Amino acid sequence: MRATKIICTLGPASDSAETICELMRAGADVFRLNMSHATHDWVRKIVPQIREIAATQNRPAAVMLDTQGPAIRTGKLEHDLPLAVGDTLEFTVRNAKPHERNSVSVNYDGLIDDVSAGCTMLVDNGVLRVRVVEKDENRMRTKVLTEGTLGSRRHINLPGVHVNLPPLTPKDLDDIALGAEIGVDFVALSFTHQKSDLEQLRAELLRLRSTAGVIAKIETQSAVTAIDGMIDAADAILIARGDLGIECPMEELPIIQRRIVKRCIQKTKPVIVATHLLESMVENPVPTRAEVTDVANAAYEQADAMMLTGETTSGRYPVECVKVLARVANRIERSGGAGFATDLDLQDPRQKTVASAVLLANSLRNSKLIVFTRHGTMARYVSNLRAERAPIFAFTPSEHIFRQLTLCWGTHPVLMRFKEDPNSTIAAAEEYLRDARLTREGDNLVILTDVHARGEMFDSLQVRSARASSGDGDGEVDERPGGESLMD
Ligand code: PGA
Ligand code: MN
Repeated sequence: MRATKIICTLGPASDSAETICELMRAGADVFRLNMSHATHDWVRKIVPQIREIAATQNRPAAVMLDTQGPAIRTGKLEHDLPLAVGDTLEFTVRNAKPHERNSVSVNYDGLIDDVSAGCTMLVDNGVLRVRVVEKDENRMRTKVLTEGTLGSRRHINLPGVHVNLPPLTPKDLDDIALGAEIGVDFVALSFTHQKSDLEQLRAELLRLRSTAGVIAKIETQSAVTAIDGMIDAADAILIARGDLGIECPMEELPIIQRRIVKRCIQKTKPVIVATHLLESMVENPVPTRAEVTDVANAAYEQADAMMLTGETTSGRYPVECVKVLARVANRIERSGGAGFATDLDLQDPRQKTVASAVLLANSLRNSKLIVFTRHGTMARYVSNLRAERAPIFAFTPSEHIFRQLTLCWGTHPVLMRFKEDPNSTIAAAEEYLRDARLTREGDNLVILTDVHARGEMFDSLQVRSARASSGDGDGEVDERPGGESLMD
């Protein structure tokens, strides 16, 4: 059972029902819809399709809507512009008339104010670099530093510049409203700079009565600097290495990744490592050795999830990519992880209870962690402690939590209606695991739930031995005294 989760971005190479089905079979847990490219009609079609396929495979699959965010982009060009080193390239705002032969408009009027002569700007994922020579109110002349071709609507990165754009553009608000309407499980916010950006998104989701989780995409230097506040304000963090690798010196990238993964685990928030994991597989059926090592590293750091972007949207081998991630993660997980979850400074008594459960599971042979969770909180606590071997089965009556928990490391969500009496709920869960052959006779079940005693609710930690598949009792509530809490 793989602990590291897999996120696939859907696109033209992967959006047929057949391929989605294969991606799920290969191990995809979450599907990402990139609103920089997706249309509303496509989203309306694809989300029910994902849900339907998940239902037929009897597994959870979450949907993440990724906003375009306040990205700076060049405008539409009649023809691509071939550019040589030393050429002049002009950028215009507010519909200013071109003064140069090579001229392109920009969607952000503040660009001219934010950069000054001598600044380097990166266009089209850093492929094209230009230096600002001079500027006036509505236009700016730059000198091309690297040879390349400029196409329409290319992204501009301004490393280290605090861009003065609202965190949610009108397009983002429109896309988020659609996401809320069709009930996506996560909304990822692109180009977040600070905690308040995420608070705005959360307020908007609340207004729309959406329970989607808020994911902060960390892809600028300012987001890295503000990381603690971002982790606090978000439900999960996404290390967007595509843009981050352009905005930061490249040798900093592995250090930033490791620091963020560690910090997220310290703060009990899921963390995703994204982009260029298997870039060469856009074209080739096998990854490079370096890519295998990068994937292994993310799994070794015990990130909750790894995310494919171009590999699955437009690559030639989307399903093979998922298989490679699953295979490499599976192998690394058997060899142990970085252990960032040991020595956590846990304050909350409930988290301490969970920590004892994980300790117990680590010390018992053939152990399985079983957690009952209404809002997902207890399951996330368990997941965060990165148990050594025990898989985590999280039972929840909420379909939404069932899907959201697919993001959490080591967690296998199970949808189940809770019964009046906690003991019957546990019995039903045991039966489910036994019938699905997820547990075997004699396995040590470490169970976290709550029990009623003396008219109060208590967290409880129990150890039970799994019973044989055709054994006595068969789903009956066992004879232990009424689900009494071990901590009571
Ligand atoms: P994007 O985000 O695909 O929306 O640019 C991913 C990244 O920047 O890594
Ligand atoms: Mn990005």
